[in-house]
Amino acid sequence: PGLLRVVLGDQCSRGLSALDGLDPARDVVLLAEVMGECTYVRHHKQKIVLVLSAMRHFARALAARGVKVDYIRLDDPANTGTLAGEVARAVARHAPEGIVCTFPGEWRVLQDMQGWEAMAGLPVEIREDSRFLCDLAWFRRWAQGRKQMRMEFFYREMRRATGLLMEEGAPAGGAWNYDAANRRRLAPGVAPPAPRRFPPDAITREVMALVEARFPDHFGTLEGFAWPVTAREAEAALADFVAHRLADFGDYQDAMATGEPVLFHALVSTSLNIGLLLPRACCDAAEAAWRAGRAPLNAVEGFIRQILGWREYVRGIYWLKMPDYAGLNALEAARPLPWFYWSGETRLNCLRQAVTQTRDLAYAHHIQRLMVTGNFALLAGLDPRAVNEWYMVVYADAFEWVELPNTHGMVLHADGGVMASKPYAASGAYINRMSDYCRRCDYDVRESTGPRACPMNALYWDFLARHERRFAGNPRMAMPLQALRRMPPERLAALRAAAADFLAGPEMDPGPPLVDRR
Ligand code: FAD
Ligand code: SF4
Repeated sequence: PGLLRVVLGDQCSRGLSALDGLDPARDVVLLAEVMGECTYVRHHKQKIVLVLSAMRHFARALAARGVKVDYIRLDDPANTGTLAGEVARAVARHAPEGIVCTFPGEWRVLQDMQGWEAMAGLPVEIREDSRFLCDLAWFRRWAQGRKQMRMEFFYREMRRATGLLMEEGAPAGGAWNYDAANRRRLAPGVAPPAPRRFPPDAITREVMALVEARFPDHFGTLEGFAWPVTAREAEAALADFVAHRLADFGDYQDAMATGEPVLFHALVSTSLNIGLLLPRACCDAAEAAWRAGRAPLNAVEGFIRQILGWREYVRGIYWLKMPDYAGLNALEAARPLPWFYWSGETRLNCLRQAVTQTRDLAYAHHIQRLMVTGNFALLAGLDPRAVNEWYMVVYADAFEWVELPNTHGMVLHADGGVMASKPYAASGAYINRMSDYCRRCDYDVRESTGPRACPMNALYWDFLARHERRFAGNPRMAMPLQALRRMPPERLAALRAAAADFLAGPEMDPGPPLVDRR
């Protein structure tokens, strides 16, 4: 007997550590589609199709290379519905001498994996996930003894360690960060190029039919499914971004525009997170474009920072802080998620745009997640558990190691400042500055009280007033708190009354108790 090599749905990578040293004559690779993973949250339909289709394509590519693959389909009548159950059945079928797997992306799955040795009575080797640029032991050492684990400092270490955008030991261009140049609103006449789409092939269409049949009441539509599901497609998606959008990525990184869900973003997170693309390849492709004079430094540095900095950093935070991290609620937020997060039916145009786009594409870009759906959740004091669940459900790229720190830490400040030195709270003025949403809204962004007032404004001041004491010692909050304190008391009282009215009003209806999230 050889080894049973277990590959998870987000591990569709040729160079996966669980496959290192594979002996095609003796070893078997197990890939199992299990109900438990499809339903532990009610994932967007596109996310389930993405993962199952990528698994089927990956299994086919392995088999074509002469690897023995044991593939368990979701509709296999003997399927137990759990990873552990499928590992146990595979052990009975193949009688391996041991099990090899790669470190998973979620705490929950690691707990499960750590039980396999006792369950199967066999040695289980959990190998490091070498697809990341920073290993977890390195991150732990970096974090040790630091009072503040700021991303920017981590990112500089990563630049030095990888040599990306470095010239003779110094950052290319003389600065580490060009973010100040990256805050433009979409200029009139600038038309973002349509990103390349990957229409479903026969395998994906079969999975789409399965998902429609099995998960009809999960959130989202499948019609527009166009995600890469193979490494080759993912590489083509990256090349399309580098050729057509990277040069403007920096300038318009924070912009939002009606009818332009992608703008100049890369659309690579789904491929990265399930292993069709490697982070180093993305960074190298961007750096090469800069060196060839095809993209400016502010764009390339901004893109590399997202992947080499933010993506690796949030993973480090997740594994450093779990499992307690998920239960933190520093701002004691407890309000239920309003129904419009699922239906898109709201008079707040910015939220309507973000939610309907998310329903149709399982995608929204960073600023929509952070400053629209996220900012509203922060200001309104929505329950972090419900907000986290929403982000896990609705995005095709959502895996807990990356979703949780972004939502809990960056957006909700539920971790009390582990990740972000201040909450990203903003009034309607920010959304108006960075988008055309306000021009098309029932509410008036210039008003803060009265029947047409933009609710974001009153909610913003109410949020500051609610948490004034907590943030009083935070130098990064000094300016907004000063503005709060300078406000005439009757003005503040009117704003807080407007916020209370809105929070008690119909927009905040949490929806039916037994939720049908179509
Ligand atoms: P681009 O804007 O083109 O960026 C390029 C790549 O950089 C992304 O593909 C991604 O891999 C990486 N990246 C950028 N920002 C971040 C970040 N803050 N954290 C980690 N990686 C980053 N990203 C996910 O991959 N999965 C999630 O579940 C997820 N949840 C999020 C929840 C919230 C509340 C917020 C504010 C952000 C979340 N992000 C998440 C980060 C980011 O919004 C997405 O990675 C990005 O929108 C994906 O689209 P893109 O590939 O076009 O990204
Ligand atoms: Fe959103 Fe307010 Fe602008 Fe309407 S006016 S789009 S609610 S920020």
